[in-house]
Amino acid sequence: MSPKRAQQRPRLASLIRPHLRRLHAYVPGEQPKVPGLIKLNTNENPQPPAPNVLDAVRAAVDGRLRLYPNPTAQPLRNELANLHGCAPENIVIGNGSDELLALATRAFVEPVPQPETEPRSAGRNPRQLVQFFHPSYSLYPILADIHRARVARTALRADFGLPTLEALSTGGSWDFDAALAFVTTPNAPGGRGYRTADLEALCLAQKGVVILDEAYVDFAGENAMELALRHPHVIVSRTFSKAYSLCFQRIGYFVGHPELISAIDRIRDSYNVNGLGQVAALATLENLDYYRRNFRALIATRDEVAERLIELGFDVLPSQTNFVLASPPTRSAGEWFEALRNRGILVRWFDKPKIRKWLRITIGSPDEMERFLEATEAIR
Ligand SMILES: *Cc1c(COP(=O)(O)O)cnc(C)c1O
Repeated sequence: MSPKRAQQRPRLASLIRPHLRRLHAYVPGEQPKVPGLIKLNTNENPQPPAPNVLDAVRAAVDGRLRLYPNPTAQPLRNELANLHGCAPENIVIGNGSDELLALATRAFVEPVPQPETEPRSAGRNPRQLVQFFHPSYSLYPILADIHRARVARTALRADFGLPTLEALSTGGSWDFDAALAFVTTPNAPGGRGYRTADLEALCLAQKGVVILDEAYVDFAGENAMELALRHPHVIVSRTFSKAYSLCFQRIGYFVGHPELISAIDRIRDSYNVNGLGQVAALATLENLDYYRRNFRALIATRDEVAERLIELGFDVLPSQTNFVLASPPTRSAGEWFEALRNRGILVRWFDKPKIRKWLRITIGSPDEMERFLEATEAIR
């Protein structure tokens, strides 16, 4: 290509859809490679996958890598159907549950038509509305923005509890007709669990699709899977990342009515779930006892850490997850974040309204938590 031709090209920015220019990417927790760093910032599981899972993945690494994987992850869907007492048609697997949350936004929500003359918050069409509580998973508004959907946030109660149905109907911001409502349960970043009865009442009041995002549910006392099998507009989202130590492999899934599930199935890539991930998830399901022991141990560590933090003057929210949200004494959460970081301990601090005074602390191994508590005592 001659330099002259190159000059005639339009500016690259003008080749990108105007709508995308103002978008911000999701900000993941840092993954620094500092030796000895204690990483309590991204809710990863401190335990490795079970030995049979590592063996299964190793055994699958050979010349077969040249082949495409099973396009519907059928063996995995069969096993998950057994586990949850439903049919494989109730299940779709994703490249992490994040992929499925994005596909659901595209499947169930109408984008605001172009040209867009009004601000995004204007307009009333509930078919264009993605709704969620605040604070909850910060990916939801990003998915809505990418799709050019409207967003409605409704504040959780100060203790991160769900607002009552009455508060929702009089509060003005919640829309029972919204095309899609995301509910993080147990809540992240709050850690609070919600009762299935309360979730069911909320689901029954919603006209559109409700996705119960149960990324942390294995650390909770209750789960709401029955709602996905009882109510056709309710989907439960699960992931192998957090509880099953498989973040690296990217395996998540939805359970819901076959009609909604098939809508997702129609718009996903044909080979969205990589083969080693399918192998790892299948091997995980063969060894659930190993993981259940891990959950019990992690929950015991979590409850102990919460108690010790309370003794040290922290405000700690009750947690049903693998992290605790704690508001520190004596100085601001931002200063604590820095002080811990200087001692080689990385937690998560969100410099955002409503959650600025909290630190989110992932529960690591007992050893890591001991060192975290020692550092905390020293900083205080
Ligand atoms: C981590 C997380 C997910 C996404 O997990 P994947 O790794 O994409 O399966 C979804 N929802 C919440 C609330 C999470 O914290």
